[in-house]
Amino acid sequence: MERMSGERKARLTEVLLAEKRRLWSEVRRELFDTVGEELRSQYDIPQDVGDRGLIDTLEDTGMAVADIRRQELTRMDEALGRLEEGRYGFCVECGAEISEERLRVAPYAPCCVSCQTRREGPPSGPGVTL
Ligand SMILES: [Zn+2]
Repeated sequence: MERMSGERKARLTEVLLAEKRRLWSEVRRELFDTVGEELRSQYDIPQDVGDRGLIDTLEDTGMAVADIRRQELTRMDEALGRLEEGRYGFCVECGAEISEERLRVAPYAPCCVSCQTRREGPPSGPGVTL
């Protein structure tokens, strides 16, 4: 497998960390603005609660959004882990590097554009079977 260049890794790290910050600010906004002060006092959440504490709190609230957010944050951690191991940003199908433009738009994209297109297949029509 190709080695990821240091420059690419640095740029992808930026992409993922920016996405992670965005995710967290959304989670915090949802947690504090949507359910508000009542919840914060109920669960005694400090303003500077750490990431893990916030996830636990999300679970405690049982909010529907919590599951989705938790999945996203888990996926993010996995992506960062793969990046650290130099496995992030490669197509799972063909092993090619996924373009940075694509990863900026879709940080969790598992495969490159051409494999994605192939996966989705041609517009379904008569006679198309898989
Ligand atoms: Zn591919």
